[in-house]
Amino acid sequence: MKVLVATEKPFAAAAVAGIKNIVEGAGHTLALLEKYTSKEELLAAVADADALIVRSDKVTAEVADAARNLKIVVRAGAGFDNLDLDALSAHRVVAMNTPGQNANAVAELAIAMMIFMCRNQFTPATGSEVMGKKIGIQAFGNVGRLVGKKAEALGMSVMAVDPFIPAEKISEMGATPAASVEELYSSCNFVSVHIPATPETIGSIGYDLITKMPKGATLINTARKEVIDEAGLEKALEERPDLKYATDIAPSNYAALREKFGERVFATPKKMGAQTAEANLNAGLAAANQICAFFKDGCTRFQLNKF
Ligand code: NAD
Repeated sequence: MKVLVATEKPFAAAAVAGIKNIVEGAGHTLALLEKYTSKEELLAAVADADALIVRSDKVTAEVADAARNLKIVVRAGAGFDNLDLDALSAHRVVAMNTPGQNANAVAELAIAMMIFMCRNQFTPATGSEVMGKKIGIQAFGNVGRLVGKKAEALGMSVMAVDPFIPAEKISEMGATPAASVEELYSSCNFVSVHIPATPETIGSIGYDLITKMPKGATLINTARKEVIDEAGLEKALEERPDLKYATDIAPSNYAALREKFGERVFATPKKMGAQTAEANLNAGLAAANQICAFFKDGCTRFQLNKF
């Protein structure tokens, strides 16, 4: 089988070497399309691929149409809003992600951003400490749970909310369950956002929620920019000069926000939550192993779509 790795933003070299080992060791061939700059390059490369590994690359209906031999696509990472699952299902292509493989990298970044904002983006002005403060985790999945553990180790109290995890389970996992998202926002000094971007969550964090936060609070987003209602965020920051916002995914109005609010806002120059050597390797190898297991035994663990 021909396994194509198509990455606009390539994996680290060690991850590519590891993927190659796994794929070729299982008797398949590996093709690489890295740093491509046009959709046409991707459409041409997928034409004869049996399997596809991508990172944040968009696998659209057009890609699914062009990939006539494709049987499986694996998104090396957690969020899969870059895959058109309906189009893949229509072509009976199995879609998977690699949950948990980059969670530690993202959790470390969320904690780093929290401290960075407490220390006024490492400028000499008097900052504040996180010990004794309360962090609210919005969605207690792989990343959220790790953020909770790390925050606890820093002496913080941890609250969490997740519509798909019962309150008792959240307690068992060491956090105080919030009765609602509103309660989370109104009672935490920091809220760390870990919800996926779905039709229900897109634009769901806006003025009403953000202004519920207590005085001096900081919102940290390492999930997706789409979950924030940007106009609502801007209005909240305008009305509440005590609030701060840090994100791994620059808002569309970042230049305006930065001009208006200076160091109260921060966005990484380029999404970098999962951009560590370790996460690259873990997610890349997991993707290769999942493809090999699928071809060997028909294993569909982590399948995202149904058809
Ligand atoms: P995960 O799948 O382990 O956890 C997601 C959690 O969200 C689950 O517990 C689930 O119950 C909850 N959830 C699902 N639908 C929801 C909804 N409608 N409202 C509220 N909660 C909902 O994923 P993860 O590994 O923890 O990653 C979380 C998100 O972070 C991903 O979806 C992705 O968008 C983002 N992410 C960003 C980076 C980055 O580079 N910054 C890297 C990895 C993941």
